[in-house]
Formats: sequence, structure tokens, C-alpha cells
Amino acid sequence: APAETPQIVLDAHGLPYLDSGLPVRKRVADLLSRMSLEEKAGQMTQAERGAMSAPADIAGYALGSLLSGGGSTPTPNTPAAWARMIDAFQLRAQATRFQIPLIYGVDAVHGHNNLAGATVMPHNIGIGATRDPRLAERTGAVTASEVRATGVPWDFAPCLCVSRDERWGRSYESFGEDPALVQSMETVVQGLQGRADGRDLSRADKVLATAKHFAGDGGTEYGSSTTGTYTIDQGVTKVTRQQLQAIHLAPFRTAVDRGVGSVMPSYSSLDVIGDGRGPVRMHARADMINGELKGRMGFDGFVISDWNAIDQLPGDYATQVRTAVNAGVDMMMVPYSYKDFRTALIGEVRAGRISERRIDDAVSRILAQKFRLGLFEHPYADTSGAARIGSPAHRAVARRAAAESQVLLKNTGGVLPLKKNQKVYVAGSNADDLGNQTGGWTITWQGESGTHTRGTTVLQGMRNAGGDVTYSKDASAPTGGYDVGVVVVGETPYAEGVGDVGNGHGLELSAADKAAVDKVCAAMKCAVLIVSGRPQLIGDRLGRIDALVASWLPGTEGDGVADVLYGRRPFTGQLPVTWPKSEAQLPINVGDTAYDPQFPFGWGLTTLTAVPSGGTGTLRALELAAGAAERAHAARTGRAIVTKARLIVQCAVGQNMSAAVAKPFADADHLLLTGHYRAAVQRLTAAYRAA
Ligand code: BGC
Repeated sequence: APAETPQIVLDAHGLPYLDSGLPVRKRVADLLSRMSLEEKAGQMTQAERGAMSAPADIAGYALGSLLSGGGSTPTPNTPAAWARMIDAFQLRAQATRFQIPLIYGVDAVHGHNNLAGATVMPHNIGIGATRDPRLAERTGAVTASEVRATGVPWDFAPCLCVSRDERWGRSYESFGEDPALVQSMETVVQGLQGRADGRDLSRADKVLATAKHFAGDGGTEYGSSTTGTYTIDQGVTKVTRQQLQAIHLAPFRTAVDRGVGSVMPSYSSLDVIGDGRGPVRMHARADMINGELKGRMGFDGFVISDWNAIDQLPGDYATQVRTAVNAGVDMMMVPYSYKDFRTALIGEVRAGRISERRIDDAVSRILAQKFRLGLFEHPYADTSGAARIGSPAHRAVARRAAAESQVLLKNTGGVLPLKKNQKVYVAGSNADDLGNQTGGWTITWQGESGTHTRGTTVLQGMRNAGGDVTYSKDASAPTGGYDVGVVVVGETPYAEGVGDVGNGHGLELSAADKAAVDKVCAAMKCAVLIVSGRPQLIGDRLGRIDALVASWLPGTEGDGVADVLYGRRPFTGQLPVTWPKSEAQLPINVGDTAYDPQFPFGWGLTTLTAVPSGGTGTLRALELAAGAAERAHAARTGRAIVTKARLIVQCAVGQNMSAAVAKPFADADHLLLTGHYRAAVQRLTAAYRAA
């Protein structure tokens, strides 16, 4: 506990709600029955930690929550400083009548990304590329343990957006364009929270998760706007009721089943075709929050608004507050306007426009999670896990995730993996830049280029792997004596708003990147790695590139990228989104009627195995069959799948023959192959065995 002693200590000793032996339901009911309207309003209020006029406001306004958000003032940069800061806030909360602890929240969207030195995972787009739910869960567990060890019990993650248009600057926060893929990665909720019944939440290595942004944040239309100006971030999602259910609500149903403790509505507006309402902000949609989420899905956690989101609703402030609360928002993220919010909320209740029942429901939901988190028993930081922050064991998980997230799009002549005895010429803007490689939501909200935290860049990873590497960022003098060039290009960091195409970040490589690619690829065999939050347009350049890798935003462990480059692990990643040929094709998603991408959803070669001799004709047949089956499935169900047959094709075209090839082919009989392409696999297997 902190050294400072609270000014007022009210001994609530002996009251039933403090009895940890009682069921949460009973504790909530007891505490609620003792609280005033002002105290209840306080529980529904979340302020920004730097915005309080005085620390005494915590007790004075009986605040329920504080946050460090994207738009926040800079946060401390050591684990101990975080813990001290939060303890000092909790101490203030202990000076309230019922000593209700604060719940502190942060955006740890890929590791404890606000803390220098923490383990930073690949952004969600890369996690989606791994197709590895077990690994996604482990990344969540590492994140939770690092976050909780600094005294933070609540994480505004995971983002469950189903990203349908890469012109949106937040598309990298998405696991992919397909709802089934997003759902399969929601094991991350278990990683963060533990068991679905919430019984692990009080552990010193678990946090409350937030499924965000409910719902349709990934479906906003390019160029649509309620204000007349261009915006895709926070824009309008226009869908049929069927699309809404199948694409955007489905991941939230899964999150509720997994016991997610909080949900954040989306800034975006929803326009359901045929309901006659036009675009309505999600924070105002009672039919969605009360109806779908709390009603039909049976969500029993609490709903936290997005940052200042109520300010975007129509009407005066009291109307905005009433609209959101009555739509089902339980806690309001009002970073700077916590005083006004409280006044308006209390006023609306007194005037009878918000029912006391609604307030009691909201506060009960919030208190229940505070009890589950064990905050009443242990309000102060348990830093026993702090030594594991950024530890080798945690970095090993991030490294593996980085490796598994790499998608091999092209590999002519088996340029990859590299061999240790090859002379490698490394170039490009993103070969040696930790900031570019970690992207937005890292140390700062929008992220920044350069070395802002601890980790290895791709270049350092290649050196650590023992590669014979020469480096020149701008590819000066790339001729002479090199076996292969590796050009690492891509994006610079961005997050909300800033990252939208049209706001300065496009899908075209920069002129410098193009020049580096052209120079190196003209001089030698080359592999191009694209470090970016979304597909970048390659166009005709593809013909001049021998190997192409989508590296996404791999996080702090460039060693993981080097692992696949040097063949210490095979490439196994698969595209989580469709890779377009041109911007004019956007939005482009698997299942579209005219689907003609550069690389389809699910594409990804592997270096796991080899081409059976004489098998190429059969391979082609198999590939066609896989494509037909995938398209038929998408047309029938509206859902994208990647058939096992596709995987086998990818295995086959990925590499030279090796012993490892035997496994997927020998396993073919056990794969869930159906109908006409089962025969093709069997023929291929026979061809391999004969070879
Ligand atoms: C973002 C949320 C985030 C919140 C707090 C908002 O602007 O949309 O994803 O959780 O800020 O930082």
C-alpha cells in the first residue's frame, strides 16, 4: 500500500458487501441498497487521469473509474511508476463512504503497449494471419499478466471489428475481414480474463476484457458521413439486417459466450437498410445495446462508452446523456466532462427521464465486475508479476506470434528461406525501425517511428540469426557480390482518424520504398517484406519481385520475422484480408460476386513442404477444386472458408521437396475433405508416394 495515509477513513467493517464469502449478487445488492444517487452517478463516471482538477475529485465526485486512453496525457514509463500512480488514486477512493475501489482502464491492444519495455505483440491483423487460436490465447495471457502487474485491472481490448475496407485506418486492429476468422481468434478473451465464468478475474495475472466496438465499426462506408466531410473512421455502416447479424454482430455473440466482462459501443452510426431510421449512432441505439447485446445475447457485464462519444449524439448535453444511458450504456467515458456528466445524469434522474431502475442496473453491472476482480479485497497493485514484464518467456510468445503471422505471398525459385551462407543485402525504410514495426497504439496513441521501446528490428533479428547481412536503408550501391536482397518497406505508424486513406496514409508504397525495391530487385534476386497494417498495392512490380511477404505490424520481436526468413520456422500465415490489385477494387471481400484480387483471402504459401515430382497437373486440378468449393460455400452461406485442399496446394507450391512434405500429404486422408476434391488429394498423395 502507498505511504500516504488517507485523510478520512470510514470503517465499513462488518457490512455484508465486504464479505468475500458471499455471492457477488448478494454483495452487489447490499452495497447498492446503501448508496445515494450521487454515489451511483459516480460509479457510472470515468474520467481521464490527467484531467482531474484535483486528485481530491476522486473522492469528491465518488468517481467509479479512471483511464489512460489514446488521447491521454503521457503515461508513466516504468512498471513501478504505473503501480504507484494507480495506488495513489486508489488511496483517494478509499476515502469515500463505502471505499469502493476505482476500476482503471487502458488500451493494451497488443501487449501493455503504453509501457516502454513491455512485450509488444503483432497487431490483431497479424494474429488473424496466424490462424492459431491457441497462440492468440497465449498473447492475451501475456498481455493480461503484464498489464495487471502494473496495477491496471481493465483492458479496452480486444477489438472485434470485421474490417471490410482497408481504407479505414483502424483496419489493423481487426483479426480480418471474415466473421468466422474473427470469432476463431476470440480465444484471446480467455487469455485476458481466464475462465468464462469470471472466476479467474481476481488473479494477479488476469484483467477484465472489453469487446469493442459494438458493432459495425469495420463496416463503415468510404466517403459516408453524417457531417458532410469525408470520414471512414467513425462513419456509417449501411447493411441489411441479415448482414448485420452475420458479419458484425456474430463476433460479439461469441465474446458474450466467452464471458467478456465489458463491451464498448462504436463511434460509428448504423443504417439498417429497410428500417426507415437512416444512420443512427451506436451509442444511441437502444435496439442494439439493450435489445441485441443485453437482451438477445444475454450480456451481463457492463457497457462503457467510447471516449467523448456521447458528445456526438444529437441534442443538448442532458439529452445526449439521457439517450446513451437509456440506450443501455452503463459507464460513460467522459475524460474531461466528468463534472458536467454527473450534473446532467442526476438532473435527468430527478426529472424522471432516466429511471432509478436503469441506474441501479448500470451500477449493479459495474459493481459486479469490481467484486469479481477482487478489487474490494485488494485495491492496490499486486506487482508480484512485474519481473515478467518484457521477460524472455513473454517475448518468446510474441516472437512466435510474429513468426506465425508472416504470410508468404510469392516465392519464385525458392528464394525463401534464406540460407546462412548467403550474402544478404538488406534495405528499405522498415528494415531497422522498431516504431514502424510496432505501429499505432505503441507508447503513444498514433505511434511513432524510431526506437521508442525495447525490442529487435527485422534487421537485428536477421543478424541475431547469424545471417551474413549488409544493410543500407536507401539501397545505395546494391550491386556486387550479393546472393539475395531483402527489401523491407511499408507504412509509418498511425491510428484513429489519421490512418484513413485520404488523411495522408494511402495504400501506395512511398516513392522511396518503390525506388528501393526497384533498385535491389534489378540488381539481384530479391525478397520484399511489407511491414504495414494493411495490404499495400504492388501492381506490376510483382513481376519483378522474386519473393513477397506480408509482415503486418509484427511488434517488438523482429527475431520472429527472422525465424521464418532463415527457415528456423516455416511460413504458415494465411491472408486475413483480401489483397487488392488496386484501390478502385475497394471494398473487396471474399464472397464478392466479382472477386478478382491480387491475392485471395486465405492465401499464403508455406515453406513447410515440397512439390511432388510430376504432380503439378494434379495440383492445378486440386487448386481449381479448392477455389470452386470455397466460392460455392461463400455463395451458399455468405461465409468465407479456406479449404484444406487449398492448404495442401499451398504446401505443395511453397518449397522444394523435403522430408517435411510427407506429413501434410500423409495426413490428407484425415483432413476434413469432402466430395470431388478428396479424390484429387488422394491422387496427389499417391503421386508423392510414388516419387
Ligand atoms: C477509441 C477506443 C479507445 C478509447 C480510449 C477511443 O478514441 O475509439 O478504441 O478504447 O479511445 O482510449
